[in-house]
Amino acid sequence: DSRKYTGIVEDCCCDYETVDTINGAVLHPLLQGLVTTPFFRYFKVKLWCDCPFWPDDGMCKLRDCSVCECPENEFPESFRRPPLGLAADDLKCQEGKPEAAVDRTLDSKVFRGWIEVDNPWTIDDETDNEEMTYVNLLLNPERYTGYTGPSARRIWDAIYSENCPKYASGEICQEKKVLYKLISGLHSSISIHIAADYLLDETKSQWGTNPDLMYDRVLQYPERVRNLYFTFLFVLRAVTKAKDYLEQAEYDTGNPEEDLKAQSLIRQLLYNPKLQAACPVPFDEAKLWKGQSGPELKQQIQKQFRNISALMDCVGCEKCRLWGKLQVLGLGTALKILFSVDGEHRHDQHLQLQRNEVIALVNLLNRLSESIKLVQEMSPTFEKTMKGL
Ligand code: FAD
Repeated sequence: DSRKYTGIVEDCCCDYETVDTINGAVLHPLLQGLVTTPFFRYFKVKLWCDCPFWPDDGMCKLRDCSVCECPENEFPESFRRPPLGLAADDLKCQEGKPEAAVDRTLDSKVFRGWIEVDNPWTIDDETDNEEMTYVNLLLNPERYTGYTGPSARRIWDAIYSENCPKYASGEICQEKKVLYKLISGLHSSISIHIAADYLLDETKSQWGTNPDLMYDRVLQYPERVRNLYFTFLFVLRAVTKAKDYLEQAEYDTGNPEEDLKAQSLIRQLLYNPKLQAACPVPFDEAKLWKGQSGPELKQQIQKQFRNISALMDCVGCEKCRLWGKLQVLGLGTALKILFSVDGEHRHDQHLQLQRNEVIALVNLLNRLSESIKLVQEMSPTFEKTMKGL
């Protein structure tokens, strides 16, 4: 067996091999189908850069990695309002024009069955309709954008140094470890996607995998790979814990065939016998916040995560900001599901999610699932150099 990482994923309840098997055979194919359905592929987001930490230094306005917003005629019917005299130009892909509104006036119909509720783990700007637009995630894959240097570096530095300091080895406080591991796992996943979809030759516009970059940034660090698996199991647990809510949610986009497909795939994900047999509880959240300082600790970590969420408005590349916001909202949703609502014991506190939270959660799980698959596929290439995984 050439596998270098074995045993139980730290602080989780399943082993690496099971995760790989169940991801490859069940989760990855289901999630890939799910994120192409209209409900899950349109993300509502405020793309305008509104950085509270480093105002007016120009770094926030790089245009070289803009998001292609959704042309108006591409929205599912129920997402649209009757055209309000939009200029023809607004109907085209807005590549390079992040400020050009395509549809900032959202039809209230799309929120049928969905309510606006607070998420204590994130800065909640998803209700500010004036500045929001819909982005077709399929048209804007997370990949290499050329965003690097001091602007990118200071965001990661601020995240790690101020908001989720790496715990010392021997740290026994589980809660303090969780936030760091979640962010590090997400960081690994972002780096893996950059390396998997890299601009190999600028002159020929040739895109492809850059295995050396994947190795340099992630695979050579066993801890970064472990944190990716941890984050995947954490988010998977959140999805399965919210199953009652997700099963009954409204997936109507006005396209019955596609909406039924979304609903059916969600059910297959939530009630998957293979997943339940192999890894019934991917993460055991009941172990946390037990001690006397539990409530205080939770407030502190919540504040740190909200800061991380606010930092996403400072990401100086639009496409990176899109995926950064989506994935941090997805993590915030997982934290909300697992730690803010005790659905199993207290019936007075029912779980309620925003539509956008559900979209972020599922797309985040899909991104992590892709990363796990890529790690599994690429690892044998570096078998000799990967130590101790
Ligand atoms: P970085 O990835 O910037 O890492 C900075 C430092 O963090 C490293 O030196 C290391 O000390 C530490 N570190 C790295 N990985 C981990 C880990 N897994 N766990 C713990 N510590 C770690 N670029 C794109 O091309 N496409 C994107 O979609 C994209 N999205 C981004 C989203 C966000 C929110 C941010 C902040 C940046 C994004 N970037 C994106 C930029 C990208 O993440 C890198 O910052 C950039 O490629 C420069 O990489 P680097 O080698 O300097 O290391």
